[in-house]
Amino acid sequence: MGEETIVIDGSQGEGGGQLLRSSLALSLLTGRPLRVHDIRARRRKPGLMRQHLTAVRAAVEVGGARVQGDELRSTSLSFWPGEVVAGEYCFSVGTAGSTTLVLQTVLWPLLLAPGRSRIVLEGGTHNPLAPTFDFLRLALAPALRAMGVSLELRLERAGFYPAGGGRIVAELEGGRPLSPLRWLEPARVLRRRAVAMVSLLSRSIAHRELAVVRERLSWSARELEVEQLDASGPGNVLRLELHHASGSSVVTAFGERGVRAEQVADRAVDELGALLAAEVPVDGHLADQLLIPLALAGGGSFRTVEPTLHTRTNAWLVQHWLPVDITFARVGGGAWEVEVTPIDDPPRPPPDPA
Ligand code: ATP
Repeated sequence: MGEETIVIDGSQGEGGGQLLRSSLALSLLTGRPLRVHDIRARRRKPGLMRQHLTAVRAAVEVGGARVQGDELRSTSLSFWPGEVVAGEYCFSVGTAGSTTLVLQTVLWPLLLAPGRSRIVLEGGTHNPLAPTFDFLRLALAPALRAMGVSLELRLERAGFYPAGGGRIVAELEGGRPLSPLRWLEPARVLRRRAVAMVSLLSRSIAHRELAVVRERLSWSARELEVEQLDASGPGNVLRLELHHASGSSVVTAFGERGVRAEQVADRAVDELGALLAAEVPVDGHLADQLLIPLALAGGGSFRTVEPTLHTRTNAWLVQHWLPVDITFARVGGGAWEVEVTPIDDPPRPPPDPA
């Protein structure tokens, strides 16, 4: 339609796959063609890995798009969006690659496309360096519901690295306007929970992790739970949940070969401590994931921890595509405010994110 192509340098800021996934979503949402170069330039193995390729193919399918450069290890991609159509979709990453990151790519376009969508995703459901299924269900989905979104998420089978084999289902009603979110009050914890999940590993790992939570945080026995999962391969994940009047925070730590269960729990407890001290309703990961929906809602603001490079990079990207200003302000005690404000001018390239 003669729309000007947006060119994205994939080495900016964090220089990872998120620049690509967010760009695909924003291209579908705005109808503007996209060219990305230097894809994942700051990663050890740059270019498209299987998870990113699945995200590209998913974007092509939901948005009737054309694409060039969609090959493994490709470092540049051209994408011409078509019309986003609600419906039934199934995307299989084919490895233990993250299903939730593929969902992140198509979720926003499908939320704005009128009609009901059902998206089945197969692959990894609990991957380090990606939101876990439980993070989406317990932290992201409630924030979106507060913005008027109708979204249900179901875990049919857990999938851990390296075996994969997981399956999640997302059902949503698209085409409803998003309303702005304002979560600026210091968060007050109403309920908390620690869940140690194990698949094909000894339950004693989970008990040792929960013992650390009990000792360091003084949580009571009824706030602690062991969850035995039936996945295709072994896995261990400790999840700490804080439920507030405004949404929930989820901190995750992964069991690893050669790392003691106590050390895994210590990592989660340390991260949770920073959220508790800053009294924030939005953790550092949710912060980067909320920027696109807030920009689509025409604005909003929330209290969070110090913005990560991921958050700053996503803010830089969103401002390329949508007419919003995104600002970060330190409010003290480890807390920050992120504000997304609509502007009248067309989107303009902001300064570098770093
Ligand atoms: P790659 O180039 O390998 O795809 P990336 O830089 O795009 O990597 P990640 O750094 O793995 O991707 O992060 C992608 C997304 O996963 C971000 O939205 C980030 O907030 C989210 N994420 C990472 N770790 C967690 C976590 N523990 N809990 C929730 N979300 C997380």
